[in-house]
Amino acid sequence: MKSRAIRLRRRPEDLPRAEDFEIAETDIAEPGEGQVLVRNLFLSVDPYQRNRMRADLDPGDIVPGRCVGEVLSSRHVGFKPGEHVLNTGGWREFFLADGDELSSLDDDVDPIQLHLGVVGAPGLTAYVGMLDIGRPRPGETVFVSAAAGAVGSLACQIALIGGCRVVGSAGSAEKVAWLVDEVGLAAAINYRDTPDFAAEVRRHCPDGVDVLFEAVGGAQLDAVLGAMRPGGRIALCGLIGRINDKEPRPGLTNLEAILMKRLSLQGFVVNDHLDRMPAFRADLKGWLAEGRITWRETVVDGIENTPAAFIGLFRGKNVGKMLVRLDKPACV
Ligand code: NAP
Repeated sequence: MKSRAIRLRRRPEDLPRAEDFEIAETDIAEPGEGQVLVRNLFLSVDPYQRNRMRADLDPGDIVPGRCVGEVLSSRHVGFKPGEHVLNTGGWREFFLADGDELSSLDDDVDPIQLHLGVVGAPGLTAYVGMLDIGRPRPGETVFVSAAAGAVGSLACQIALIGGCRVVGSAGSAEKVAWLVDEVGLAAAINYRDTPDFAAEVRRHCPDGVDVLFEAVGGAQLDAVLGAMRPGGRIALCGLIGRINDKEPRPGLTNLEAILMKRLSLQGFVVNDHLDRMPAFRADLKGWLAEGRITWRETVVDGIENTPAAFIGLFRGKNVGKMLVRLDKPACV
């Protein structure tokens, strides 16, 4: 059997380009003792993969990442053909796994790709960042940047469920409309067509911001810092606005706000909080059953389009989770 995979051709210098990647065909052997043959159904493209391309990955490496797939054949006692598995096989159609790389999936999660989004790592990121780091209280004002993305859109909804007033930022009129009309935000700011972002934050948060869930950094963070209330909390989730910078840019101008308003700012990495998965899944199950959670996904078809989907993350092409669907592999 042959499988196609996406390899890093060279490390991106700034914004990743199609030429930084290449598609390669590899031979896949029959599973040996203890091995499982997996066919991936959905690949996840995520901002953290850009960080890995800076140092961890070498040209020629298959880009690692989370995927959901199905077991085609198995010589491992823990996995049966037809079963769905979460795996870290990366951007490839088929692969041979040992059991350590796979986990069986809850069959009551439908559709299955939610394990890469609202039910998976992005969901846990939103949960930990909002509840454990941001710790919003009912009636408080919460600001979420990159609010229409996979993590941001769930972070907004967790704060809404907690009785907060939520305001967010996003990069298009379509995203702003979704956030206000369907997700339930009090207001959303399209930072791309707002000449004075700081003024818009102050206009929509007249009493100030108690909790900031920050995913962008740079000028947006600077502006919201100016609107924070004394004693406010900042959950620093990501810095996607700076992730492709070749050279470091001058930093925040509003650090004084952190000092004088006695703000606390805490970065976090979801992998340090996997012990929160059972609580997250239990809460999420309840919220989903009560119809309190909505989500969107942007699906790109075909493994050959994985680099474009990944690059699209940095151009705001996704609403909700960006995924690649591998429907009918060409090389079986
Ligand atoms: P996502 O939000 O679904 O997709 C990325 C979004 O970021 C894009 O749709 C785009 O939306 C926005 N964006 C891209 N470039 C930008 C720029 N230069 N300035 C402002 N906005 C920009 O991705 P995600 O997976 O949910 O990740 C969101 C953030 O959480 C990222 O910062 C990521 O690194 C972080 N994260 C952190 C952890 C952790 O453990 N700490 C785990 C997962 C993710 P717009 O159209 O709105 O610009």
